[in-house]
Amino acid sequence: MLLTIVIILLFSYLCFNILSVKKIESQFLQQRSTLIDKKENLESINTAVSKRFRELEENIQEAFLAYELTRDISPLFDKDKLLEIFMEKLKFFGKVKNIKFSSYPEDNYLNYELKTDHPRYLCVESSSRKVKEYLPLFLYQLNLCLERNSLYNKLQKMSIYDSLTGVYNRRHIMERLNEEFERAKKFAFNLSFLMIDIDFFKNINDTYGHIVGDVVLRGVASLIKESVREIDSVGRFGGEEFSVILPETLKQDAIVVAKRIVKKITSTKIKAFDESIKTTVSIGLASYPENSLYLDMIIEIADRALYKSKESGRNIASWF
Ligand code: GH3
Ligand code: MG
Ligand code: MG
Repeated sequence: MLLTIVIILLFSYLCFNILSVKKIESQFLQQRSTLIDKKENLESINTAVSKRFRELEENIQEAFLAYELTRDISPLFDKDKLLEIFMEKLKFFGKVKNIKFSSYPEDNYLNYELKTDHPRYLCVESSSRKVKEYLPLFLYQLNLCLERNSLYNKLQKMSIYDSLTGVYNRRHIMERLNEEFERAKKFAFNLSFLMIDIDFFKNINDTYGHIVGDVVLRGVASLIKESVREIDSVGRFGGEEFSVILPETLKQDAIVVAKRIVKKITSTKIKAFDESIKTTVSIGLASYPENSLYLDMIIEIADRALYKSKESGRNIASWF
């Protein structure tokens, strides 16, 4: 009897243990599967984070490139250099097979209109979505620079040229004279300077009116320009007075040039609307170093020589 009880007890204990082990095993399996789930979850989060990180990295690179592009092209005032650097940067952007600037849209290229007459188009060969997405932004930067560039050139022109006659204005011709004078002194070159004044110009205004007078002024400026070399500088000194800088020119050669200008103007009829007007000029010239070693004196002597031409009856060149 006792043995039976002991056996029953033992059996019960065994059963209880087996059940406990089973329970623990099932709990373990459940926890294991939860852990596996969590691990898979973590792995997918990790992949998503890496992907997002890569995307962010690409975006940062692109944003940086856009910044670099703006930084590099903004200070440029030379149009050719501006386009060259832009093209280089765009190649660096990658995913671009070919880039060129053209006067007309190119087949099989993405064509973008530029804010300049020449070239008219930026042509890009690329099938990349990113390129299509970013190019308008880059192009906006480029067009801003091109517009600023053309405004700068216009301003530059306005600041050095006389708007009526198209030759240099007084301030610029004086700057050029100072530069050429310094160069002549430094390299022991000759330099000649002409002062030119239209004769009895007031009569032209009085006879034909100021508008015709303006056309004559423009005509005289052109005739002077046609009579000198490319390296000589012609400027409007004021009113109906012009001046010419003849670098590396001896006095004897400047006399030849001055006489040529007098002859050219006296022998040409200037067309102004319905009128054909004849006019003459008087010229005074002075040369470095023959007349003086000082620039102020050179200008003064040329002016006195011009007065001498006027006194001598006009339509001639004079010197000392
Ligand atoms: P001279 O032979 O002694 O130089 O006589 P001139 O009549 O040429 O000289 P004057 O100094 O008496 O007159 C110069 C004239 O030039 C007077 C002025 O109205 C005119 N003038 C100056 N600037 C302009 C301009 O931009 N347009 C026109 N149409 N006339 C101008
Ligand atoms: Mg005058
Ligand atoms: Mg005059």
